[in-house]
Amino acid sequence: MEEAARIQKEKGGFIKTMWCGELACEMEMKEKAGMSSRCIPFDQEDLGEVCACCGKKAKHMIYWGVAY
Ligand SMILES: [Zn+2]
Repeated sequence: MEEAARIQKEKGGFIKTMWCGELACEMEMKEKAGMSSRCIPFDQEDLGEVCACCGKKAKHMIYWGVAY
């Protein structure tokens, strides 16, 4: 989560993380990192086992972008 926010600040644009699929995590990312989910790519990459927000088992890889 913090890392995601930092990367977003430094590089801007889109970042990708793993995500558990819970709406609560999406909302949290929006609040804390100012990012909202953009898309769940068809080509799923295995970035890790756990959600970047809550640390539970991840289901999807998801792209995040700055919420304007
Ligand atoms: Zn989560």
